[in-house]
Amino acid sequence: MIVSQRSGLVERRVFEPSDLAVRPSGRTISQAKPVSFSFSLQNGIFAVQSQQLPIMIHIIDLHFYHEHTIASFVIPSSEGPILVETGPHSTYPQLVKGLDALGYQPSDIRHVLLSHIHFDHAGAAWALAEAGATVYVHPVGAPHLASPERLYNSAKRIYGDKMEELWGNMEPIADERLKVVAHNEVLEIGEHRFVAHHTPGHASHHIAWQLSDIVFTGDVAGCKIESGPVVPPCPPPDIDIEAWKESISLLKSLSPKALYLTHYGPIEAIDQHLGELEQILDGWADWIKRQMTKGLDAQAMTPLFQAYTDQQLRDAGLGDEAIAQYEAANPAWMSVAGLMRYWKKRA
Ligand SMILES: [Zn+2]
Repeated sequence: MIVSQRSGLVERRVFEPSDLAVRPSGRTISQAKPVSFSFSLQNGIFAVQSQQLPIMIHIIDLHFYHEHTIASFVIPSSEGPILVETGPHSTYPQLVKGLDALGYQPSDIRHVLLSHIHFDHAGAAWALAEAGATVYVHPVGAPHLASPERLYNSAKRIYGDKMEELWGNMEPIADERLKVVAHNEVLEIGEHRFVAHHTPGHASHHIAWQLSDIVFTGDVAGCKIESGPVVPPCPPPDIDIEAWKESISLLKSLSPKALYLTHYGPIEAIDQHLGELEQILDGWADWIKRQMTKGLDAQAMTPLFQAYTDQQLRDAGLGDEAIAQYEAANPAWMSVAGLMRYWKKRA
């Protein structure tokens, strides 16, 4: 049986073999028998079972300015709910509400898996660490979470007065609450087994987390909101097109059945999605290079880039609200700065 429920707060996706029972409250209990891996796709809802227990993924919409711009994923386990991505601290109340709708409190979360340390993915990690969670992160990202002043202050130079409203606070995470994770390292949490794939390109310290044949891709598989096209978020300072393409190849080599994008949600047409991502990544990078060759600076380039990418979204059939969702998840100025920096480094 497959169950899908959707409220304003949480979307649940679960593959349910006959040995799983759902209580009316939405909490799920399982009485699993040992079974091998199986996969099912029915009515557009993806579900997977591996090892011995079914995997349920709850998607919490953090409502960052718009619906479906930033997701946080909750995977129940025998060691309590596991959180993949926290969103920014500014949407922490929404995360708490989403957890509450699932019957959890922040202190129930013992394990937080981060794709990378950008605010929209990791900004609330410190609050969960304070509530008792261990935070798993790439070795290059960990020092910035232990001492976030530099990260915070450099962002503050960009965002100014808007910093607090956009991203909230960032407090240090105690060393004993931070765990660095090597490439291909496996985390066994309860009945689940997560594999950490170091996947640079968007950020040098990026991890895609594989759980059975699902991969939580952070930003390395791009952003795709609702029925819109996939786009590559390209913030400074680490954009590396070659590394990104190698990471895309790595994702393909895992032959996953679904990618879970932080911006936003599951993708099942994976080859098509990753092919389109590579194409648009090249398209954006080449566009920026051409403007740089003409001598344009970032300030002059940003409105032109915004018009160019808005037109791509309109050509894909999107209207104003959908374009605003994309802009919230992936602002134009950010990709201009990131791609200019990439080309300058290569020069
Ligand atoms: Zn992001």
